[in-house]
This record gives sequence, structure tokens and C-alpha cells, in this order.
Amino acid sequence: MRQKVVVGNWKMHTTAAQAGELAKAVVEGVDGEDRVSVVICPPFPYLAHVGQIVNGSRVAIGAQNLYPEKEGAFTGEVSPTMLLDLGCKYVILGHSERRHTLGESDAFINQKVLFALAAGLDVILCVGETLEQRKANQTEALLDRQLTQGLVSVSAETLSHLSIAYEPVWAIGNASHHATSEQAQYAHVVIRRRFSHLFNDHSAQAVSIQYGGSVKPYNAASFFSQHDVDGALVGGASLHADEFLAIIRCAISEAQSTGAKASCGVCAR
Ligand code: PEP
Repeated sequence: MRQKVVVGNWKMHTTAAQAGELAKAVVEGVDGEDRVSVVICPPFPYLAHVGQIVNGSRVAIGAQNLYPEKEGAFTGEVSPTMLLDLGCKYVILGHSERRHTLGESDAFINQKVLFALAAGLDVILCVGETLEQRKANQTEALLDRQLTQGLVSVSAETLSHLSIAYEPVWAIGNASHHATSEQAQYAHVVIRRRFSHLFNDHSAQAVSIQYGGSVKPYNAASFFSQHDVDGALVGGASLHADEFLAIIRCAISEAQSTGAKASCGVCAR
């Protein structure tokens, strides 16, 4: 069974003090919980500080990006080695804001994926269609392209260090227009099918696929209840410890419900 993963993407938010407070609250809230993997991804300047706070806890830290070189004359960039040095276990790559606002191509994202995996980081590769692509029935083709080109030369042996975040661009930061859980489930099946073509059936069943796009405490349970949704990549709600922890509790509740049904006040399971 795939373990649920809940990732908080803080984007370019928080001050150093706020980052510290938020990280402390998440660590305290998660406590010794091991049924769900929890990752927080602060901005680069706060990774060291947040890394000290989560050290020894069940909460891991991740970066929101990296540059695909070990070191060198790349002003303003951050290497995989530096991230590992700071205690990062994960890195988010191919986020739609980097694809669409900063113009990152599939080929460049692929270089980053290969560098990150070779360095020993766990990669969360984001894929997802725009509203125009969805309306033009291009969602499947787009997902196939982003996965095929983003995973060039990735070997099946490294796949345990790779997860996918399906993030429809139209649903990010848009609570009034988040995807339905059925839309998420459908896209996740498309992603598994592509994994099966690119690698093999075992990899397709094993890969962890998170949904991202306005996941909140009130809708998290509906996503987590879908067979192929293995967690969430959370933006806005991860900046509020109470909301982020409520989403984590929904994931725990779903994990428990495969055994005995548990109760969760927020998601009413
Ligand atoms: C994201 O940043 O990846 C994201 C899903 O943001 P939000 O939850 O705010 O839509």
C-alpha cells in the first residue's frame, strides 16, 4: 500500500520569524505520527533555520527548486549538494509557477530531475494542464508529454525517490475552482498509465501521486478517499498551521480507515 504524503509549499512567503513559528507548530502537531509522511518546503533563505527546528522530528524539509549543476559560476542559483548540506530530503521540481512564470521547459526540468536523483534527493515532479488545455481536451496529451520529457533517462531503479504531484494550473490558488476528487482520480490514472508505458506496471502501481490545487481542510478527505490519490501538495493552506495540520489529520484518518474507521472532526470521517 502506498503511504500518504502531505507536502507544504510555502512559496515566497513568511519572514524568518514566521517560518520558525510555523515549523514549530507543524512539528508539535505531527508529533510522533508515522502513518503519513509530512514535508515542508520553506523559501531557500529559511531552510537552515527550519531544518534545525524539524531535526529529529517526523517532519522532513524540502526545497522548492534547484539548479542542475554541482557548483560553479551560476549567480543566484542553489545546487543539490547545498540542499543536502542543509538537511533537505526533498525538492519540488517543475512547479507550474516555474513552468509558466519563469519559462522552464520540460528539457530543463528533466536536467534538474536527473541531477537531483543522482545527488540523492527525493524529487516531487509537478505536472498539470492549464484551463485552455483542459477545455481543448488536451489534458491527457499534456500529462503524457510532461512525464515523458520530464523523465527522460530516469532509471526504474531510482523511482522510489520520485513522486508526482498532479496540479491542474487552473486549480492552484483558486479555492472557488478546485478540481473535483473524480477529476483528480482520473488524471492520476492517466499518470499511472504513462508510468506503465515508460517503465513497467509495478512502477505505475508503486509511484506516489499527490494532488495539488487548493487543497483545504474541508475538501482534503474527498481527495484522499480516491484510490489513486496518495496525498497532497498544499500551497496556501500550508501557511496556516491549523489548516495544514487538519489536512494531515484527514490523511491519517484515511490511512486508518483502511483498517478501522477513525474519527476526524474536520473532515467528518
Ligand atoms: C501549490 O502551490 O502547489 C498549490 C497547490 O497551491 P494552493 O494549495 O494554494 O492551490
